[in-house]
Amino acid sequence: MSQFWSPIVHDITPYVPGEQPKLANLIKLNTNENPYGPSLRALEAMRQEVANSIRLYPDPASDQLREAIAHYHDLRMEQVFVGNGSDEVLAHVFQALLKHDAPLLFPDITYSFYPVYCKLYGINYETVALDDNFEIRVDDYLRPNGGIVFPNPNAPTGCLLALSEIERLLDANTQSVVVVDEAYVDFGGESAASLVDRYPQLLVVHTLSKSRSLAGLRVGYALGNNDLIQALTRVKDSFNSYPLGRVAQAGATAAMQDQAHFENTCRKVMQSRKKLVKELNGFGFKVLPSAANFIFTSHPEHDAATLSASLRERNIVVRHFSKPERISQFLRITVGTDVQCAMLVSALREILG
Ligand SMILES: *Cc1c(COP(=O)(O)O)cnc(C)c1O
Repeated sequence: MSQFWSPIVHDITPYVPGEQPKLANLIKLNTNENPYGPSLRALEAMRQEVANSIRLYPDPASDQLREAIAHYHDLRMEQVFVGNGSDEVLAHVFQALLKHDAPLLFPDITYSFYPVYCKLYGINYETVALDDNFEIRVDDYLRPNGGIVFPNPNAPTGCLLALSEIERLLDANTQSVVVVDEAYVDFGGESAASLVDRYPQLLVVHTLSKSRSLAGLRVGYALGNNDLIQALTRVKDSFNSYPLGRVAQAGATAAMQDQAHFENTCRKVMQSRKKLVKELNGFGFKVLPSAANFIFTSHPEHDAATLSASLRERNIVVRHFSKPERISQFLRITVGTDVQCAMLVSALREILG
């Protein structure tokens, strides 16, 4: 608390990201990073960019990157907005498109950054309870609203909403923006990007942090009708003309173009997930069906916070959310390499006895 703070700063509740431990040798399964490195072509493009042009300001519009993203999704460049991580893209989305008189709707259990943006921008919101299987029920969103936002697959549950259900939502909800945050869609979901041409109220948000292994680079993007993209660009150009540096633009462009590396690493993560779920089921863990690069799991006889602490003693970091109550007995575990998964499994075997 300080007399020097603007009043709003007293009222906001900042998001708390998962720990980035300083210790080496930890098995880090707490923030859903990709265990495999990024495309070698992306690394090479970044080296070249540093060597040749880092003296100069970057392209403020990131045209090359937007072109590469548009090409990957079979869209036009005018339908793409890029930002410094999808967290920044989402921040602009909340401010530019989701602040209206009617409440913004999102699930009660979801990405915990959403209520933080609402507080920051003074957006009125209501949460909608997931059903008993922790799934999003489209019918519960069919009521007056100033916008709808949810991740698909949802976080931290990993549960996927079928594309046909998203289409049903869009058919019924035509008067406000629907934002689908597809941070994890490449690990087993089907992207709503294919619906962008048909639904002017749809905005799809992606990140290169998870499926493209570039969490440290900070690149995210949004896909939507040019009208929505223009709103985002207006906010961006009132905030920071150069959100993406040259290294980020060069690396992200090359990463979007390296289809083979992307497909290989996603496939490996999905294979490891399948094996891991089987092992955990064998120990009596219940695992929600996951289409993401993490699993959400609970054990009927073991307290989640205690399990998390015991894993930490064995140098394995997973994520435990003590709130809301409904998920306090779950652990969110990132799917690592097969070797990391095996180490997790043997630690659990030891802990469970
Ligand atoms: C990881 C994540 C993001 C943020 O990704 P960045 O691009 O790294 O900022 C956004 N939404 C969800 C649901 C996420 O899990």
